[in-house]
Amino acid sequence: MMTDEKKYAVFTMDVESFSDTECVGYSGADVGDVDMLDGLDEYIKILEKHGIKATMFTVCGTAERIRGRLMDYIERGHKIALHGYDHTAPLLLDDNKFKEDIFRAKCRLEQIFGTEVCGYRAPCFSMDNNKLNILKQLGFKYDSSRLGFEKARHNTHIDMTGFRELLNGVFCRDGFFEFGLSCQVFFGQKFPISGGGYVRLSHWGFIKNAIDRYLKSSNYYVFYLHPFELSRQKVPKIDNLKMYDKYYLSHGLSSYPSKIEAIILSLKRLGYTFVTFEELTEVMATA
Ligand SMILES: [Zn+2]
Repeated sequence: MMTDEKKYAVFTMDVESFSDTECVGYSGADVGDVDMLDGLDEYIKILEKHGIKATMFTVCGTAERIRGRLMDYIERGHKIALHGYDHTAPLLLDDNKFKEDIFRAKCRLEQIFGTEVCGYRAPCFSMDNNKLNILKQLGFKYDSSRLGFEKARHNTHIDMTGFRELLNGVFCRDGFFEFGLSCQVFFGQKFPISGGGYVRLSHWGFIKNAIDRYLKSSNYYVFYLHPFELSRQKVPKIDNLKMYDKYYLSHGLSSYPSKIEAIILSLKRLGYTFVTFEELTEVMATA
């Protein structure tokens, strides 16, 4: 099969409580019981309307909290993957502690859901090659933590030397895959177009144009976001946040569902096939 003739799109969510949101976690704010996890249900509704299966990167404690809902989604064909035992950025942990945490989190998710957990995305996209090797040792088939551009906090440092690039941003070595996030290049600078705050906060005309241009010339696209970005609950007021973080938590929320649908329609128009990462590892294994 000539895999380069096909184009693949993967829709993911980092399923975490509102208190795990990077800037909320760093603020130390107590948000009580507000988890905003109804955003997962809103996301699944959008995806199911278009026949798309989600890859749900889930924090272990969050999985315990909403295990019934997640089990229901798994039974409907969506896939569970790991987003950490808790939401600590991996680069804050030494390799032994990381290995211990990931091993017990993988075992716990597999015990709860009765299904193999073979994928991982690092909290805060905080990842390096040593930790990537640990994931492989623990039996993971893939990671999806590579941003592909510079990020100030807990920058991801993944060197793809020795990997084969099978699709634009999809790398493989010895049967282990790195599914990077998609970026568009403007004047030599990489700009993230894979969702989260990057798509939500940008001028829509600008970002939609960038995404459409990328999709026309690429063969792989991944979208990600967090539950709070689609939640119908009001974002709690947190006083000790920086201006940008306040903006990040409040701007562009109500219009995000229609933007996600517009991206889905572009992908359909351009002939992309919607897959989970598990399915993509199987397709790519024959590449
Ligand atoms: Zn996260």
